[in-house]
Amino acid sequence: MTPRVRFAPSPTGFLHVGGARTALYNWLFARSSGGTMILRSDDTDEERSTPEYAADILDSMRWLGLDWDEGIDTGGPHGDYRQSARLERYRAVADRLVEAGGAYYSFATPEQLDAFRDEARAAGTAPSYDGRFDVDQADAVKRIAAGERPTIRFQVPRPGRTTFEDIVRGEVSFDHSQVDDFVILRSDRTPTYHLASTVDDVDFGITHVVRGEDLLSSTPKHILLTEAMGADPARYAHLSLLMGPDGKKLSKRHGHTAISAYRDAGYLPEALVNYLALLGWNPGEDATVLPLNEMVDRFDLTAVSKNPAIFDTDKLEWMNGVYIREMDPAEFVNQIIASIEADLARPLTDGDRARLVAMAPHVQERTKLLTEIGDQVAFLLVDEVEFDEASWAKVMTKPGVADILDAAGERLAAIDDWDVRSIEETLRGMIADLEIGAGKGFQPIRVAVSGSTVSPPLFESLEALGRETTLERVRRARSLVG
Ligand code: GLU
Repeated sequence: MTPRVRFAPSPTGFLHVGGARTALYNWLFARSSGGTMILRSDDTDEERSTPEYAADILDSMRWLGLDWDEGIDTGGPHGDYRQSARLERYRAVADRLVEAGGAYYSFATPEQLDAFRDEARAAGTAPSYDGRFDVDQADAVKRIAAGERPTIRFQVPRPGRTTFEDIVRGEVSFDHSQVDDFVILRSDRTPTYHLASTVDDVDFGITHVVRGEDLLSSTPKHILLTEAMGADPARYAHLSLLMGPDGKKLSKRHGHTAISAYRDAGYLPEALVNYLALLGWNPGEDATVLPLNEMVDRFDLTAVSKNPAIFDTDKLEWMNGVYIREMDPAEFVNQIIASIEADLARPLTDGDRARLVAMAPHVQERTKLLTEIGDQVAFLLVDEVEFDEASWAKVMTKPGVADILDAAGERLAAIDDWDVRSIEETLRGMIADLEIGAGKGFQPIRVAVSGSTVSPPLFESLEALGRETTLERVRRARSLVG
């Protein structure tokens, strides 16, 4: 039996990192087992579902490089994979369960249920609703005919117990005293998550349900429902939740949570996917940086840890730097040129391009986020440097700066071959002769040519700028120093 798995997001929010990890583990399991990956849309919550969120989920999945064999947008043998298109099917299942005696019309009021739960808690007994206010099904039909709108509840067998072998967590067992007779169809005849999800899992032939641990307590309900439908339950794998480095549930306080926010912040999808894969799974042999195809070769759902996984943006940023350094240099240059042209809304001149090409390897070496690049290389593309005020105050108002810039201008003008080696030799000779340290001697030159104390490496920057521009900028800064 080849595995059939599904990722089932609700379009009530952006695809967030926890959801993406769930999608990824489903995908890795499908791809490593020759199985089928299905993307379903749990969009029964009409009020909170939006087309923007639905689009964000698809875009983010694609951006991460996760594809699917059946599902929304792709189609497949089961028709429409959006739950909103399958409401009649859920209603039919609920009605059939009522006929067969596995579910019942419930007229219990919220007040009754609250009072019952309060009493049970006070008495120290289980507060799970057991149908006590709905014993008289004989007049349900009359009450409905008279205009009452009951819910339909699943009748949990009592006493009883549901036990299953979770692939990640091992044996999990729920006594039915812990499980409510849960609503499957609301009084407006919309399905609850439990009903829609279980019907879909049965109808779509899902063999393995891989999802977040927050749904663990729903699983006995889904197993009971599946059995009541006359089907065999899937295997379940519940993934631990993601935590921030402080051990608290991952939230906006810890940084971005939406995948699209990471894209916008300059992360590479390959780095993000690699990092997400490690949140609960250890590929072994100390491997941390490994591409998707190697992960597919090694992935093992049974080796996923049940311990909470820490999502640490510092580690992710580190990994992003690794992936940026590993990018093909030509592709890296093309990417920066494209993004700068998009920012400037004009094509770059040949001179601009040449300077960027010269500087790119040094930037690539140091960049952790693609979004940092624009600022790092801006000085290569302007006619006149804009000085960062703090940098100017810190460096250019010190005594001796005028002399340093004069000396630098003179010596740089005298270089025969304008390359990194000669530039470095010349400037090191200069500070030796002036008997000053590298910080004091080089910072004024850095500020003069780049406008800031923070810039890519100095000698490489001068080489990329070219002699003429360098000298011009040194002269201008010198005149502003007074
Ligand atoms: N739609 C549910 C959610 O977004 C997931 C359902 C499931 O995986 O069973 O939390």
